[in-house]
Amino acid sequence: MSASSSDRSDLPSFVNDVIKSVVGSEPVGLHEPSFKGNEEKYLLECLQSTYVSSVGKFVDKFENDLCDYTKSKYAIAAVNGTSALHIALLLAGVSKNNEVLIPSLSFVATANAVSYCDAIPHFVDVSENTMGMSHETIYDYLSQISEQINGNCVNTKTGRIIKSIVPMHTFGNCVEMDGILKIAKDYNLSVVEDAAESLGSFYYGRHTGTIGITGALSFNGNKTITTGGGGAILTNNKNLAERAKHITTTAKLPHKWSFKHDEVGFNYRMPNINAALGCAQLENLSEILKNKRSLFKNYKKFFGHNKNIRLFEEQKGTKSNYWLQTLVLDNSCSNIRDEILNVTNSSGYTTRPIWDLLHTLEPFKGCPRSSLMNSESLEKRIINIPSSTYNSHLS
Ligand SMILES: *Cc1c(COP(=O)(O)O)cnc(C)c1O
Repeated sequence: MSASSSDRSDLPSFVNDVIKSVVGSEPVGLHEPSFKGNEEKYLLECLQSTYVSSVGKFVDKFENDLCDYTKSKYAIAAVNGTSALHIALLLAGVSKNNEVLIPSLSFVATANAVSYCDAIPHFVDVSENTMGMSHETIYDYLSQISEQINGNCVNTKTGRIIKSIVPMHTFGNCVEMDGILKIAKDYNLSVVEDAAESLGSFYYGRHTGTIGITGALSFNGNKTITTGGGGAILTNNKNLAERAKHITTTAKLPHKWSFKHDEVGFNYRMPNINAALGCAQLENLSEILKNKRSLFKNYKKFFGHNKNIRLFEEQKGTKSNYWLQTLVLDNSCSNIRDEILNVTNSSGYTTRPIWDLLHTLEPFKGCPRSSLMNSESLEKRIINIPSSTYNSHLS
């Protein structure tokens, strides 16, 4: 294997061989959940209690456990990560006709959540090293396209207020948040973290999603831990937390029997049965993260010395959850990405490219954007490889 590893034309079979030595010869998915703890026990307990829906002790416990783990002062569970992000944006002040800076290199949910606020995604670039928002280019870009009017950052071309900036921690790798916080301060933007992929990732000791004014987590089936479908809003601000709870539960005023709702609210509350699963999953989180890190190390043994491939790795001062293991091909190799995908998928190993860039998707084609040089380059060179942690090689 090592003899061929520096030869470009052999890359597809090299990658295939590495995956085989690391995960074994059986077919594997990209990311499959594992239920090894109290999942069945809590689900059964939830069923027997009959509290399977929007109230119950597991929702409260899940929120408390999330606070304990992330050190967020408040966590509000939601039906999915997209709805959590929607609320996180509203709480951060995003309203109709605002623009919101988001990476084009992200899952569509980031742009959708902005659209749900009747706001407009404004796409910005990422850095090659973190795959997250590139604060240097964004700082310069804003100095060219915006001006401060009455304490608002106004896009001089569109006349719209740029309200917020939404760093997304790609595949669990932390964005350089200090740079983002400086942008937010100098340009008067609120920071909303899309931490959907980064439960278990820390930026200089702070959990992702707790650094901005609000943040959103996801517990979809393919994420680090799952509640089936689910998400959570994180914030350290008591007023925002109360408001999050209020508008995710139909904006109903607390009363024993009357149905008074003081605004148009959302039915975004996580059901108790999903939270039951989440409580058990959270108990396994440190074990899952340990296994993910050891999977990364196993891949690194093989990929670490190949000049045509970079195995994506956490930056100094940050801790990645290693949600999805990621190969970044050298520029010279982007033309063989699809062949690598072909060879590995034909062998039963689920691998896939990164998402289509959001600014190229039909609903977002007309949205404002900066130069997206790095995003466009990275999109052609990224391959996610099997990242589940249940495999026997780890035990
Ligand atoms: C998963 C994900 C979300 C939220 O997804 P849901 O499926 O709604 O839980 C949001 N943003 C990103 C970047 C994601 O990967």
